[in-house]
Amino acid sequence: MAAQTIAEAAILEGRQAQAFPFFGAERRGAPVMAFARIDDRRICDRTQVAEPDMLVVMDASLLDIEPVALGLKKEGCAVVNSPMRPEEIDLGVVARCVSVDATSIALEHLKAPIVNTAILGAMARADAFVSLASIQRAIVNRFGEKLGERAGSINSEAAGAAFERSREGMCRGERKMQRGNAWLPTWQETPPGVALGRWERGGMAVGPGSMRQNMTGTWGTSSPTYTRARCIGCQRCWFICPEGCIRRLEDDSLEFDLRYCKGCGLCAKVCPKEAIAMHRKGAGA
Ligand code: SF4
Ligand code: SF4
Repeated sequence: MAAQTIAEAAILEGRQAQAFPFFGAERRGAPVMAFARIDDRRICDRTQVAEPDMLVVMDASLLDIEPVALGLKKEGCAVVNSPMRPEEIDLGVVARCVSVDATSIALEHLKAPIVNTAILGAMARADAFVSLASIQRAIVNRFGEKLGERAGSINSEAAGAAFERSREGMCRGERKMQRGNAWLPTWQETPPGVALGRWERGGMAVGPGSMRQNMTGTWGTSSPTYTRARCIGCQRCWFICPEGCIRRLEDDSLEFDLRYCKGCGLCAKVCPKEAIAMHRKGAGA
């Protein structure tokens, strides 16, 4: 949605634009990429963008699992969703950087950690290639049309707040980055029906059982807390958890494997006894 909206904002300014996503594991909360290309001339290139002028990192936990800044142009700019100042962010390359706590802004305005509109405000702050006013118009059009007028206006306000609260600076380049272009093994290399071992060339493990390698616990902004005294052992949470990370122990109590919990909150929603509560990571229980 963010890539499509920035493209629409550029079109509102009379420019040419295209936007398209790239999905790997197509699951809610999984890391995905999206690209936008903007020009004053007709755009014929429809390939993925390998060397962006602007890199937008919607979730700073990605920095630990993917070399996201590989390819960012030397004179390019990074926009990172993080409460940290640009100088505290290690992107692996020294670059101009705009940081914004888009998650907090989204929680304030939308009451959900959906950061795609807040981050657009930070993009306008990072580079005036598209104005904030056009971005807000595009948000109102796109979100208003899909979700109603009120949704359009609160998403537009989230972008405005992010524009105001963005911080500009230079990020650090100490992190070692390796090109993980071997993320898809050949079919001969994929043992069927078993979890892959450590993938020596780096990158993402695929194939049956690869969920053991995908540490989905880094994906979410929230995690569950469990109150044993309230639990009646109905197992609804165990049944609904999409990651299978709730374990039933012998005494009928539960254990949550937070290495894989992506914070979707489904377990808390289905619990009839409010024995599970979700809380923002890093904000205490
Ligand atoms: S929030 Fe609950 S349902 Fe969602 S992944 Fe974590 S444990 Fe499973
Ligand atoms: S849904 Fe709630 S009551 Fe049922 S097992 Fe899970 S925590 Fe316990």
